[in-house]
Amino acid sequence: MPTDKEVKKAFKQTASKNPDQYYATSVLKEEGFKRKQCACKIFYWTACDAPTCGDPACSGGFRFFGGKTPAKRELDYPGVWTAFASHFKNLGYTPIKRYPVVARWRNDTDFVQASIYDFQPYVVSGEVKPPANPLVVPQFCLRFNDIDNVGITGAHYTGFVMIGQHAFMPPEQWNQAKYFRDIHSWLSKGLGLPNKEITFHEDAWAGGGNFGPCMEFFSRGLELGNQVYMMFEQTPHGPRELKLKVLDMGMGHERNAWFTKGAATSYETTFPTVCKKLFHATGIKVDEKVMEKFLPYASYLNVDEIEDTEKTWNFVAQKVGIETKELREKVLPLAALFSVGEHARSLLFAISDGGLPSNVGGGYNLRVILRRALSFIDKYEWNIDLSTLCVWHADYLKNIFPETSEHLATVAKVLEVEKSKYESTKQKTRQIIEKLMQSEITNTKLLELYDSQGISPELVREESAKLGKKVAVPENFYAQVAELHQHKEQEHQTHREEKIDLEGVPETKALYYQDWKHIVFQGKVVKIIGKNIVLDQTAFYPTSGGQLHDIGVIEGMQGKDEVVDIFKQGSVIVHVLKETPTCKVGEDVKGFIDFTRRKQLAQHHSATHIVGAAARIVLGEHINQASAKKTVEKAHIDLTHYDMISEEKLKEIEDKANWLIQQKVPIQLKFYPRTEAEQTFGMGIYQGGAVPGKELRIVNITGYDVQCCGGTHLLNTGDAEAIKILKANKVQDGIVRVTFVAGDAARAQQKGEQNVLEETAKLLQCKKTQVPARAQELFELWKQAVKKKKQPTSLELKATEEFLGSEKDMLVKVCEIYKTTPEHIVKTTERFLSELKETHESEKK
Ligand SMILES: [Zn+2]
Ligand SMILES: [Zn+2]
Repeated sequence: MPTDKEVKKAFKQTASKNPDQYYATSVLKEEGFKRKQCACKIFYWTACDAPTCGDPACSGGFRFFGGKTPAKRELDYPGVWTAFASHFKNLGYTPIKRYPVVARWRNDTDFVQASIYDFQPYVVSGEVKPPANPLVVPQFCLRFNDIDNVGITGAHYTGFVMIGQHAFMPPEQWNQAKYFRDIHSWLSKGLGLPNKEITFHEDAWAGGGNFGPCMEFFSRGLELGNQVYMMFEQTPHGPRELKLKVLDMGMGHERNAWFTKGAATSYETTFPTVCKKLFHATGIKVDEKVMEKFLPYASYLNVDEIEDTEKTWNFVAQKVGIETKELREKVLPLAALFSVGEHARSLLFAISDGGLPSNVGGGYNLRVILRRALSFIDKYEWNIDLSTLCVWHADYLKNIFPETSEHLATVAKVLEVEKSKYESTKQKTRQIIEKLMQSEITNTKLLELYDSQGISPELVREESAKLGKKVAVPENFYAQVAELHQHKEQEHQTHREEKIDLEGVPETKALYYQDWKHIVFQGKVVKIIGKNIVLDQTAFYPTSGGQLHDIGVIEGMQGKDEVVDIFKQGSVIVHVLKETPTCKVGEDVKGFIDFTRRKQLAQHHSATHIVGAAARIVLGEHINQASAKKTVEKAHIDLTHYDMISEEKLKEIEDKANWLIQQKVPIQLKFYPRTEAEQTFGMGIYQGGAVPGKELRIVNITGYDVQCCGGTHLLNTGDAEAIKILKANKVQDGIVRVTFVAGDAARAQQKGEQNVLEETAKLLQCKKTQVPARAQELFELWKQAVKKKKQPTSLELKATEEFLGSEKDMLVKVCEIYKTTPEHIVKTTERFLSELKETHESEKK
């Protein structure tokens, strides 16, 4: 099979040989456009005999600054979307709300990078209905491949809004001429551009095995957008028409405002109020004249491409007509200031949508831009606070993105914690590196420094250079880091190495979705492979969604078979028996599930959702589930949180979880079509990560927690009986694991604590309530005798003071005295007593 790149190249040739078949040429001709070919080989359409295709490289860069914009209509940033949405509403499109930029519904990407991401994979593949059809969406996107150019070139962003125009149509309803006319009407009526100021390019697009023609549109050297028509798929037998054709038009929101205003940089039109405040706070001024001359050449300073920085600066300065030093002094602080503003905006969206800076995955890039902004603030000694910047951004965006104002407290908290991490890293880096300079800094060492201390290799390189030592950083360093952290194992990904041959075995009907107490069922044997047996339907739950499998018995004519494991392979559920089965294929059998185990697992699973909900109430809306596991003994949930969870907060979460149990909140279990589920409950339902399928099973703890999940759940929070949190520990930067028990396991835990008190009371020969006082007395005696070698006059414990408070508090008190954990109290008491006795006896000899 050819690669996407090869497919694109080949199809571009096919399409340009027969443009009437692949492009909306009828509309172009109607509007007075003529087809020409540029020196760069591109076929383009112009209404004014333009001599080139209009690409900045062919036409000499951007030519709309300084009031030279040909747009008759001036639109400010929020105004672009408002005008676009109403324009397209009149043309029969439904404007929809943006999706979160954190793409929890996908397992192939951390962030949304284009508007079509919202509808991949299931809408584009035709499996799931789109939320509206056709539609338009202002989708905020994050891309981190141009970080170093942000600020400098006047047009680069890490976070931007892609306005999407989308249609998902079977071939008979596909109307390419209309889609094209609609976007052209936006350019001509929406922006007020005369046809002679617009150039269209014929191009082709290919991705993920699909391909089709596309039309890019330019004005004055600026690409405003691109309309892609996904019409074909590549198969081993050649191209084939798609059953669902997809319109994917993406247009830069920022560029529309920039272009109609004709401003020098797009940052000033994307966040004008923020720029104004930044200029005011720093005293920096834009030299419009210099910037206008500089910006057409700004792209020469693209840091990824230039080899000799100094030479390039000299060249650009010559073009602008000023000294290199002066140009640098004018451009660099301004670029830094725009970067700070731009990065704050990206962080506002990302954190509001549930993203957290960290040292792995997508969170890593958030930390990179955050630290880039902080280092500019440091370097220029500006008095700028990033969270205040976020407030200004949210205020400017409130008409089109009101949700950015909803989580400002969380955003501020996250930025504060990140800033202190940045400060402490900076401080310790120098000391650590000085120490390391004696030996060679290897790749392994770099990985270790980054992983355990959060010290980036760039920082190591910088600091080493100051000390006169060169450190080589491998190009794929962050890929290596990512590899170290492959444990983003989400609920649904339950791997099983061995595969058995299930060719021709029909899908198993699962009976465990409705009622967790459904533990006796009828079924028919459809396949036996060794000790593995498949039924037509089963209530046995296979290990999945982080929840362990059921066990039990399958009873047939010849006897009972013990079931020891259950797993799902594709859509078939396989029962693993302890011995060779006594039943035969075609036989009717009865299944019996071990109730105690099922109950405990259901309690642990529902408790996982309850603890997540409680944590969200206590810690904030940024709490999401990163992973979870439920066994019979205990369960854990990994929470996305920017800091460690304190003992007090942990106690609060436990109390809130038990409060939710006391409220006896109904837990609703229901299947929904995917799009309906997303629209009704929001994209937060993907707590367990991306889930396949047309229908989603929604587990709804009414009013507190909604997510799609396939586990065996209780029907009421009250059935979880009790939740006891055992501990919290950091498993990864930005992820805290909370381990807990529920139901019988929680009671067993409490019983264990009672036993500890009872046994300790026996050892100390006192009442339970006197244990803390006696423990204190014993500890003092032991310290005197064993540590300080002073012989006590008597070994007798006399304290009788009674403790006022719960048994739990009593244990906490004793733990404090002994400096130990509850499970070690009995042993510690025994040790103190015996050591005390030993010293006493040796003294007597
Ligand atoms: Zn050209
Ligand atoms: Zn779940």
